[in-house]
Amino acid sequence: MLRISAIASVIGRGQRTFAFLLDLLYPPRCGGCGKYGEGWWCTACNNRTQWLNARDSRVSLELPSGQSLTVISAANFGPPLREGIHCFKYEGQPQLAEAFAAHMSAIAKANALSADGIVPVPLHATRLKERGFNQSLLLARHISAALGRPVEARALQRIRPTQQQAHLSATARKENMRGAFAALPERVQGRALMLVDDVLTTGATLVECAHVLYEAGAQHVVALTLARA
Ligand SMILES: [Zn+2]
Repeated sequence: MLRISAIASVIGRGQRTFAFLLDLLYPPRCGGCGKYGEGWWCTACNNRTQWLNARDSRVSLELPSGQSLTVISAANFGPPLREGIHCFKYEGQPQLAEAFAAHMSAIAKANALSADGIVPVPLHATRLKERGFNQSLLLARHISAALGRPVEARALQRIRPTQQQAHLSATARKENMRGAFAALPERVQGRALMLVDDVLTTGATLVECAHVLYEAGAQHVVALTLARA
C-alpha cells in the first residue's frame, strides 16, 4: 500500500511539474483581451461580460411541429466574450471551455433546468478534423460534471456537412440545417435532454436538433448556450 501511494504521489507531482513547465513555456493568454498572467479568461474580461440573470436568460423558439423550445443563455454575445469564443473555437484554446461552462452550469441551476442527459450539438466529421475538437462537447463535459448528468454524445449525429452559417440569412440557415442531423432512438426515447451549443444566433441549428430529437422519441428537450446574439 505504501509503495502504491508513494508511486501515485510521484506521478501526481510529475503531472503538476509538467503543467507548471508547460505554463512557463506557453503561458496562458486571456482569450478575451490577450493579456498574459491571469489564465485563459481574466477577471477583467469576466467582469466586462454581460452575463444574464435567470429571468433574462430565457427565450422560446418555435419548432416545425408547433412545440416550443426553451433556450437558456449565460450571456449576451458581445466583447470581450465574442473574442473569447473566437479564440476558443478558431485559435485552438479549448482550455476556455472550463471558465465558460461554469457560467452555463450556473445559469442552468438558476433556471432549475434538469435533464436525463446532456447532448452537445455535433460537428460534421470534416469540421471536427479541421478544428480538432467539438467546442460544444467540451462545454458539455464540464456542465455534465457540474450538474451530475451524463453526456450523451452519441444521441445526435451530424450526417451532412453544412455551410458556415455566419453569412447566411435566417431563411438560408433553416434550409442549410434541414436534414443535417440524425438521432439515435435508443439514446433518446422517453428521455429529457439538454442540448448544448456555444452561440444562439437565429436558432436554426438548435431548432433542427430539437426537432430531430423529438422525432426520435425524446420526452422533453431544452437548450443551453454560452451566448445569445
Ligand atoms: Zn482578459
